[in-house]
Amino acid sequence: MRPDLRGVRVAVVGGDARELILAKHLAQLGAQVLVMGLPVDNCGVVYCSGNEELHDVDAVILPVPGITEHGVIYSAFPEQPPIAAEQVLSRLPSGIPVFVGVARSLLKEIASRRGLRLIEVLNLDEVAILNSIPSAEGAIQMAMEHLPITIHGSRALVLGFGRTGMTLARMLKALNAHVSVAARRPAHLARIEEMGMCPLTYEELPQAVEGVDVIFNTVPALILTGKLLERISPSTLIIDLASAPGGTDFVGARRRGIKAILAPGLPGKVAPQTAGQILARVIPRLLAQEVAR
Ligand code: NAP
Repeated sequence: MRPDLRGVRVAVVGGDARELILAKHLAQLGAQVLVMGLPVDNCGVVYCSGNEELHDVDAVILPVPGITEHGVIYSAFPEQPPIAAEQVLSRLPSGIPVFVGVARSLLKEIASRRGLRLIEVLNLDEVAILNSIPSAEGAIQMAMEHLPITIHGSRALVLGFGRTGMTLARMLKALNAHVSVAARRPAHLARIEEMGMCPLTYEELPQAVEGVDVIFNTVPALILTGKLLERISPSTLIIDLASAPGGTDFVGARRRGIKAILAPGLPGKVAPQTAGQILARVIPRLLAQEVAR
């Protein structure tokens, strides 16, 4: 059912192509949408130039990456004036929901000080699972660009079997790669075997990494340590999808001559339209629920 957002006043502040799609969709659902830091055409959305217009909004949507380490709200549009998060959040009524993809500690601190309800949408399964599709496609695209061989027939190792690792492993298998997946839960190891791939425990990695063509890391912890890298051939490509700083000892990899790439934010880079549609599918319903509270 389409959520009815008539009477809801929501500000979309900063972002990229994804938030443009979302802002237009919110307007189509009847919300009164104010935008800052995004270029808008006449699509039912009102451009908001000053913070004072934010004092009576029901909710705020910040960009997927949230804010920079300097407290500026992320915007992919350099012609838009920079917007300080503190300046915007200080204008908001206390207790209102603030949606963001992932929140840095600085944003969490500001939100908590201002009494705002921070909702990190990339942590929600329904978003993370759908986002895993462009993430996996983007990771495989990178592997195709950097490897001298096809994915078909390659020996691929996926570290982690969560929302991203599972999708990635399945796509690699569908492309006829020889796929091994490292996981720590026995149920996951059983599922990996059921899917026709080679299950590995982390203790087995030192032997398993030898002779692998490409390693995709999805574990947000240091897994590819300097010690493990010593077992990896310099011809192996590492694509690290885990959130910064990733799960690879990048200095150690460089020292060993191994190409290791940290690949953040793939959905927004490789498929911004799909990524925007995912937000447009999920956020209006969450917004309606939050406003009804
Ligand atoms: P997830 O569903 O929570 O999966 C994480 C996986 O890592 C699980 O298999 C988990 O194992 C494993 N894990 C966590 N800590 C571990 C540790 N200390 N040792 C061994 N295994 C560990 O997360 P996700 O949604 O797949 O996302 C994974 C990472 O990718 C996150 O950092 C996320 O921010 C990032 N990400 C990046 C992109 C991109 O574009 N680069 C896109 C999506 C996600 P258990 O199940 O046993 O806990």
